[in-house]
Amino acid sequence: MEKIIIIKYGELSTKKDNINFFLSTLKDNIKNVINDDCDIKYDRGRMFLYNVLNYDKVLNKIKNVFGIHEINIGYKLDDNKLSTIENSLKGLIKDKDFKTFKVETKRSYKKYEMTSMEVSKYLGGVVLKNKENISVDVHNPEILINVEIRSDYAYIYFDKENGIGGYPVGSLGKGLLMLSGGIDSPVAGYLSMKRGVRIEAVYFESPPHTSVAAKNKVMSLARILTKYSNYIKLHIVNFTEIQESIYKNIPHKYLITIMRRMMYRISEKIAHKNNCKIIINGESIGQVASQTLTSISCINSVINMPVIRPVACLDKLEIIDLARNIDTYDTSILPYEDCCTIFVPEHPVINPSIEKCIEYEKLIDVDNLIENALKNVETIKIEEKENKFNDVL
Ligand code: ATP
Ligand code: MG
Repeated sequence: MEKIIIIKYGELSTKKDNINFFLSTLKDNIKNVINDDCDIKYDRGRMFLYNVLNYDKVLNKIKNVFGIHEINIGYKLDDNKLSTIENSLKGLIKDKDFKTFKVETKRSYKKYEMTSMEVSKYLGGVVLKNKENISVDVHNPEILINVEIRSDYAYIYFDKENGIGGYPVGSLGKGLLMLSGGIDSPVAGYLSMKRGVRIEAVYFESPPHTSVAAKNKVMSLARILTKYSNYIKLHIVNFTEIQESIYKNIPHKYLITIMRRMMYRISEKIAHKNNCKIIINGESIGQVASQTLTSISCINSVINMPVIRPVACLDKLEIIDLARNIDTYDTSILPYEDCCTIFVPEHPVINPSIEKCIEYEKLIDVDNLIENALKNVETIKIEEKENKFNDVL
């Protein structure tokens, strides 16, 4: 009998033709977080971690891996004979303290000599005989004894823990997250990773109007998100020249609209260059003047790449709850100024017109400004390891 970790995939197991790609991505992602602390094998229904050196450490790591729906610590038996299952179970329940239980059996090996019901009934009898003062409770048992029978072995497990679900990060390709220091965009990044998108991030800074502290804050947010994806590439764009030029030349009502059109154009170019198929941002319908439906469509019209807005239909309070759950909230509310907030006009336009934007953009040198900004992009690879290092310090 060997102690193992059993991983269930949930939604993933509904994938048919490309399931192997999803599973090999999941295996790689697990391997990345646990290094060489165990061996991994899998089939269409389950993934198994063998030779685990430190269970707490491995469990703690895999609980943040997308694509895992359930995690069980279990025992792989040498064969699938009923006598082997019986003897192993007797040994396993000896030290367990419980008053009620239920046995649940699954057979992926349909030629087995007994049905699942018969096995459960038989093993239930075994448990009752080997422990005093206990009873079966099929509705609300204190412990659930799971037995799974395969063609050449069986395994038993008791406790189950929920994984975080979703698809393995990277199984759906890459997207570029517009990451500001606010509350919304880190949550948008988390939600898109949950659907299997590997993210790179872009941050627009305007030194000296924005501080180094503001940039560090964005780097910290990216680092928190690496909990779910091993590493994140962060592209930092110097936006000062663009912002000053807009501020100087364009009617102030349209500052934010034009500024965001410039951000979108640059993001699309960075996304193409880095093989990202979509742009992701933290826009939420109606939250501010630049997020009315007219504003969104006016801003979006400058690019062709799809823009995914995972928090578009959430209330701010719902977004805050998520931010708290993923530990980005406390960092997001640090009071460093963002490049948008410095140049915010008193009365930004709520229903901008595309024609006006085109007219106003003639007042600045759009192409040249974009070209200059792209020339000086600073790209850093943010890794979780630095997190550990900082923790030690
Ligand atoms: P808040 O939580 O305060 O709303 P926010 O980040 O959502 O912060 P908004 O001004 O509402 O701020 O911006 C909408 C979206 O545009 C952000 O979620 C983010 O995706 C993107 N964005 C805004 N500013 C920047 C920036 N400086 N760099 C990169 N992306 C940005
Ligand atoms: Mg917002």
